[in-house]
Amino acid sequence: MTQADCKACRHFKSAPYQARIDGCYHPDHMKVSQKDAYLSEQETPGDHRVINRRGSCGDFESHPKNRSLLSRILSD
Ligand code: SF4
Repeated sequence: MTQADCKACRHFKSAPYQARIDGCYHPDHMKVSQKDAYLSEQETPGDHRVINRRGSCGDFESHPKNRSLLSRILSD
């Protein structure tokens, strides 16, 4: 079985550019979540080191592949 790597998961955000605190922003793992974007400063992520301690997190999802500029132009 392949290991889940939080740094390659779409639910992981790192401080300071993506979020206030490093961690797992999967809705099922967050300690405090907010529905409204303007309250996002109050969100507290789950501790990815604990949730994915064995590298076997079932909620791992890889980042979506970046589509090429040409494929985006052709689909619009
Ligand atoms: S704990 Fe799981 S869902 Fe959260 S960032 Fe790591 S692999 Fe992704």
